[in-house]
Amino acid sequence: MTTIPAGKVNLLGLTQPEMERFFESIGEKRFRAGQVMKWIHHFGVDDFAAMTNVGKALREKLEACAEIRGPEVVSENISADGTRKWVVRVASGSCVETVYIPQNGRGTLCVSSQAGCALDCSFCSTGKQGFNSDLTAAEIIGQVWIANKSFGTVPAKIDRAITNVVMMGMGEPLLNFDNVVAAMQIMMDDLGYGISKRKVTLSTSGVVPMIDKLGEVIDVSLALSLHAPNDELRNQLVPINKKYPLDVLLAACKRYVARLGEKRVLTVEYTLLKGVNDQPEHAEQMIALLADVPCKINLIPFNPFPFSGYERPSNNAIRRFQDLLHKAGHNVTVRTTRGDDIDAACGQLVGQVMDRTRRSERYIAVRQLSSEAQTPLAVANRN
Ligand code: SAH
Ligand code: SF4
Repeated sequence: MTTIPAGKVNLLGLTQPEMERFFESIGEKRFRAGQVMKWIHHFGVDDFAAMTNVGKALREKLEACAEIRGPEVVSENISADGTRKWVVRVASGSCVETVYIPQNGRGTLCVSSQAGCALDCSFCSTGKQGFNSDLTAAEIIGQVWIANKSFGTVPAKIDRAITNVVMMGMGEPLLNFDNVVAAMQIMMDDLGYGISKRKVTLSTSGVVPMIDKLGEVIDVSLALSLHAPNDELRNQLVPINKKYPLDVLLAACKRYVARLGEKRVLTVEYTLLKGVNDQPEHAEQMIALLADVPCKINLIPFNPFPFSGYERPSNNAIRRFQDLLHKAGHNVTVRTTRGDDIDAACGQLVGQVMDRTRRSERYIAVRQLSSEAQTPLAVANRN
């Protein structure tokens, strides 16, 4: 039976099966899904009139009941090192950030999943913004769509600028599960962006039940934000650890990568904070903790932001930490800071979140003790 939907359906965020169901629901053939997805994702089209292999009658029908709408681009900045950053406004009115990092022949897009974040890790500027909203699947895949269009590569699958996607922008992706999974499915679909499952990575601070659930529905790569090698310290830095401590967390991560097979491993992210988690004893504890976890380690020197209360360790301290892990047989890389001049580094993504948790008031109160309190961000969050 044909049911024309009441409001316009945004086709941007539909996975292939959802798109097929949509066409069936308006009395059309399922193969239309593939045609339209290619126009949207390969050619960056947002106008049905441009879909030349779709007949006029269907185009008119689509115009009446559907739309292709990405988040609004508020700004696009290009750094001297080629890094790009977009600020986009989502339906809730908040702004989130997307970052593109070209490096060693790869192009990695760092995508946001929520406006703000409820998890309040102590060293993360997104956490300081509090939480406003989950992004829709269209708003998540829309960040890939916008970035891809900015490179003008048509069709997107040939000579592609975006080779990898990491769900490491603003927000905790596992707390916006369905929308993040749908968007990642479109990233991997040949009718979408055709990115291999190994090159789509979800990063989590450790929402244990959702790690298991993720393994049941998708096979993307997994990164764990570890940041501390013992529960006492991790409880302070990553508060969700109080709910899901290290033993249950690492067990869930091991289950996830074991299910992937094919010698795939967990990425362990570890933000180095001077004098807090960067001492040799921390490296030793980490070696013991990860002894039976198939993983590679990515050290992230802390990226400072105003009034964080933390500092980045010296290069010597970073190298010493890396050496200790390396000598124990670990594959360890240190993430270089990119896009410094446009505030695009990990943990510097603030967007402009309309905090519903009121948590940002605490942060702003600290900032107001200083004469620098009248920053645009502080003002925006207060309003
Ligand atoms: N919420 C998810 C993904 C987004 S954060 C998570 O926590 O994994 C992406 C990475 O940047 C995480 O490992 C996070 O802990 C780290 N990060 C956050 N703030 C940082 C900062 N100021 N400097 C360096 N890394 C930071
Ligand atoms: Fe949220 Fe990740 Fe930041 Fe923690 S590090 S507050 S989970 S975005």
